[in-house]
Amino acid sequence: MAGGGAAGFFAAITCAQAAPGTAVTLLEKGPQFLAKVRISGGGRCNVTHACFEAREFAAHYPRGEQALIAPFKSFQASDTVAWFESRGVKLKMERDGRMFPTTDSSQTIIDCLLGLARAAGVKLILNRAVEGVTRRPEGTFELRLSDGGALECDRLLLATGGCRVPALGQLAVSLGHTLEPPVPSLFTFRLETPWVRELAGVSVEAVEASVPGTGLRERGALLLTHWGLSGPVILRLSAWGARELHGLDYRFPLRLNWLPHLGAEALAAELQSRRDSQPARFVMNTPVAPLTARLWERLARAAGIPGDTRWAALSRAARHQLVQQLLHTELQVTGKNLNKDEFVTCGGVRLSEVSFKTMESRICPGLHFAGELLDIDGLTGGFNFQAAWTTGWLAGQAMAGASRQTNATASN
Ligand SMILES: Cc1cc2nc3c(=O)[nH]c(=O)nc-3n(C[C@H](O)[C@H](O)[C@H](O)COP(=O)(O)OP(=O)(O)OC[C@H]3O[C@@H](n4cnc5c(N)ncnc54)[C@H](O)[C@@H]3O)c2cc1C
Repeated sequence: MAGGGAAGFFAAITCAQAAPGTAVTLLEKGPQFLAKVRISGGGRCNVTHACFEAREFAAHYPRGEQALIAPFKSFQASDTVAWFESRGVKLKMERDGRMFPTTDSSQTIIDCLLGLARAAGVKLILNRAVEGVTRRPEGTFELRLSDGGALECDRLLLATGGCRVPALGQLAVSLGHTLEPPVPSLFTFRLETPWVRELAGVSVEAVEASVPGTGLRERGALLLTHWGLSGPVILRLSAWGARELHGLDYRFPLRLNWLPHLGAEALAAELQSRRDSQPARFVMNTPVAPLTARLWERLARAAGIPGDTRWAALSRAARHQLVQQLLHTELQVTGKNLNKDEFVTCGGVRLSEVSFKTMESRICPGLHFAGELLDIDGLTGGFNFQAAWTTGWLAGQAMAGASRQTNATASN
């Protein structure tokens, strides 16, 4: 197994437990195992998401949705919860559905996976990269290792993680696979608009964000920051639009509807009723809920309304401008920032080249894949680890099955 991350460990443990006696070796090029698990979820490791229906769960993957439905029917979030619980790690659910170990520490997950791998007899090797692979005519693999050594195996799992640069997918390519070009997913938007930056720290519970000229449209919480815009709605837009926004060089207009629960007519009626019921009050001092006073004031100014305007003096044209501003603010995005808590790579090994029953290559028999090396990426919330657990579990089961078959044939 190449790659000592979540997917590699899950596959190695599954294989070693399902086919005791099989020699399983896990090679990690870095100085520590499970390095991303350690830093994940702000050090708490968001292991999975409390959504227990395969199709619904799969709908959280901008890349991989269709391919993952069947795998989730075999091993989904409830299986992950049961898997960890039966091995002594309890998970808890937060209000938004994210699931963490009850200890709130990713070390709990690391200790569990390392302990299980050792107990199952997995040979764990650090600081050893697989640098090249040759498939022999008889079907075995010869691995060239970074220390100059070599290793032979009947089956090979590549679980080397997201290929942020194409070079990281070269092992798969050398065995005949195609890489979907890598681009970032889960990033936040940079904006130069001064009033947005001045409102850093302000959040709005539900806005609708869309990118004109594309089909991208999402709803959710928005956070204004000192560099631009962040929050779940922006991360979702960045994930679903990873390829399109890359194609636009991350420079595009962004439209925001600050009050998506109100239509244009309802909002116009709300403004009219303010004019009737509180004519003497300043427009700036009477925000429409749930917008905060500071944000309201900025939006009213952006609509061209002077600070000393009272509701009674707000002309029909100005009211129209305000409605437009509240429902269709148009801002210019000038770049991206990667989200510091979680980012994944969109792109990787082409999914049509892999069987999602066994995670085995359709091109190179005996070669399996798991985790982010595949062209699969999910939204934030535990979906990326669940893809690693599920694909790792399927690969481990299939590799164990093949090993049992080989042993049975040999003993006949
Ligand atoms: C900061 C951060 C926080 C995150 N938080 C969350 C979260 O809370 N929840 C969630 O669901 N997702 C989270 N993610 C995403 C999640 O970490 C990844 O999707 C997941 O780790 C992918 O697992 P993997 O095993 O496929 O790859 P990785 O975890 O990247 O592991 C691959 C391993 O392979 C090794 N390797 C690479 N090439 C070779 C080679 N040639 N030979 C040997 N070894 C090699 C690498 O060194 C690495 O250790 C986060 C990501 C980041 C960056």
